[in-house]
Amino acid sequence: QSQERVFNFAAGPAILPENVLKKAESELYIWRGSGMSVMEMSHRGKDFLSIIEKAEADLRKLLNIPSDYTVLFLQGGATTQFAAIPLNLCNPEDPVDYLVTGSWGDKAVKEAQKFCKPNVIWSGKSEKYTKIPSFDALEQNPDAKYLHICANETIHGVEFKNYPIPKNKDGILVADMSSNFCSKPVDVSKFGIIYAGAQKNVGPSGVTIVIIKNDLIGNAQPITPEMLDYKIHADNKSLYNTPPCYGIYMCGLVFEDLLDQGGLEEVQKKNMKKAEILYNTIDASNGFYRCPVEKSVRSLMNVPFTLEKSDLEAEFIKEAAKEKMVQLKGHRSVGGMRASIYNAMPLAGVEKLVAFMKDFQARHA
Ligand code: PLP
Repeated sequence: QSQERVFNFAAGPAILPENVLKKAESELYIWRGSGMSVMEMSHRGKDFLSIIEKAEADLRKLLNIPSDYTVLFLQGGATTQFAAIPLNLCNPEDPVDYLVTGSWGDKAVKEAQKFCKPNVIWSGKSEKYTKIPSFDALEQNPDAKYLHICANETIHGVEFKNYPIPKNKDGILVADMSSNFCSKPVDVSKFGIIYAGAQKNVGPSGVTIVIIKNDLIGNAQPITPEMLDYKIHADNKSLYNTPPCYGIYMCGLVFEDLLDQGGLEEVQKKNMKKAEILYNTIDASNGFYRCPVEKSVRSLMNVPFTLEKSDLEAEFIKEAAKEKMVQLKGHRSVGGMRASIYNAMPLAGVEKLVAFMKDFQARHA
């Protein structure tokens, strides 16, 4: 990483690969002989069509997306999907199941209450969202239209390592993968819908990716706004209205980069290595640093930790920033620190952080 850049541990918008930014910079004013920037192009012209089609094709390769699934590039963030999912999959009286392992799952269920009858089948709230339950113990409703999970809770650092089998009639599992999208291989065929805001692992904010099994498209409630109706977006290949063109272009560059790295198995290996050295440092600190999350479900992407001497936290963050490691403050709802180490965080960034942590401990223990 070049000298002028900081190591950005933000949860999102987050660090992007430096080579991707450089590539985007090199074609910022004039995209490949088109005489204009991607930002200035018609979304219906052949140049932009080639960009969005390549982005989709590369994402399909990366995640090995089956042909009976549709890929949508939408707007409104993952938050909009909290409403779009029940609107498209349920009628107002339909029951649905939510497994709540952190604040994002909690937000999703609250939004769903406006459009269907969600039931929280398990919540980790009383244990401060540090666990994922054993799937055998879950009481799923056979009449539920879907089972919803948040595959990686960005604030609490809790990540599913495998997935519950949906026991509802149609066997539909829906997952918010905003903060671990494309960080590891995923068997898409196990899901009815996977959705993710791009701004953590695959691009700038403004793009929301939805991967949906085709037979779930076309049943939206009559009150569904056009912009939330999957059928309208699917029929129009994500071009019903003006899409977030530049964001989609950037996602495309990231997908290309992930393929160049050898695909998601290789990416996962790198992510595991980075997470391992950070968690090991925390666990080997004799309690100076603590991560509250149960070991078996610790996130590879978002690592929350606290200092035993909590009055040192502000100093930790200040000193780290001086050494060009920024955005380490935990989410305002949980406090402490959080290091987000998405795909684009180089190993060198995590090595620098753990060296700093050891030195900080030596000076303050
Ligand atoms: N879901 C998860 C897991 C998130 O981390 C976030 C944002 O940080 C959201 C949903 C909300 O995403 P957006 O801000 O794109 O609406």
